[in-house]
Amino acid sequence: MWTRLLDALASLALLVAVFVPLERAFPARKTQPIARRELTLDGAFFFGQYLLWNLVALTLLVFADGTLRHHGPSSFQAWVASTPWWAQGLAAVLLGDMLVYWFHRACHSWEPLWRIHSVHHSSESLDFVAAHREHPIDGICTQLAANLPAFMMGVSLQSLAGFIAFRGMWAIFVHSNVRLPLGPLRWIFGAPELHHWHHAKNFRGHNYANIAPWIDLLFGTHHCPEGEETYALGLEEKLPEGYFAKLAHPFKPAIAWIFRAPAAQRQLAGSASLHEPPPHFAPSAAGATQVPANVPVAVLQVDPPLQTL
Ligand SMILES: [Zn+2]
Ligand SMILES: [Zn+2]
Repeated sequence: MWTRLLDALASLALLVAVFVPLERAFPARKTQPIARRELTLDGAFFFGQYLLWNLVALTLLVFADGTLRHHGPSSFQAWVASTPWWAQGLAAVLLGDMLVYWFHRACHSWEPLWRIHSVHHSSESLDFVAAHREHPIDGICTQLAANLPAFMMGVSLQSLAGFIAFRGMWAIFVHSNVRLPLGPLRWIFGAPELHHWHHAKNFRGHNYANIAPWIDLLFGTHHCPEGEETYALGLEEKLPEGYFAKLAHPFKPAIAWIFRAPAAQRQLAGSASLHEPPPHFAPSAAGATQVPANVPVAVLQVDPPLQTL
């Protein structure tokens, strides 16, 4: 545990040493301070990742790697092994990027995944610390999607470790409050101004491939107008405040339904009749049914899950 804490502090020191000077010298949003609102919340996500969730993700990746290596399509893997190492690596990375792109699009189109992914979008400022605001399920699924093609092909994690580490840093860079002329790197690995547009409050549906912008070009989701960044970031909806509340946010409909359903059934079973309104529901002068304040909420809310919050 202490070793992990020291690793986390060393990583934080490295990120501060690299990104604070960059954000001060080349800010994308000049008025955004380094010590901004919700910095401590994003710090909690950073330490959550380094102290716990990265370990869970790595354990699952090693398990998936071992399982697919030993039980995957062996003749296909033998053919892949006969090709040059650079072709193996390139194919694994391109296919991984493609899978991440479609997983990310699914996160924006399917409500249960959006509830998880919306945690990442809830930050109203972007910088190298906000890059770590991510629900652990979101992060783990993204890591699995990125590496699944490599595992299927029998390409080991170790052979891609350096490249994976570089892209991890680049993923933090595209969230940073930095604007730099990147030249061709912008088209190969993406740029902060591209990913910042993905976090725009009132303009969604673009730049899903965080660090592989060619995929957005391919599928018509690339968007990057020139000019200053003045648009609002974050969400229209309000997510609960705090680290643990945000971790619980995706499960709130299910939790509410689990606790609400038995209570509602008890209330309904206790009623004199399910077909006649109970006596305290008195019609108003306008004809509308008025609900007294003392009626239990559970009687009124017996909706199915995922539609109630
Ligand atoms: Zn997104
Ligand atoms: Zn992002």
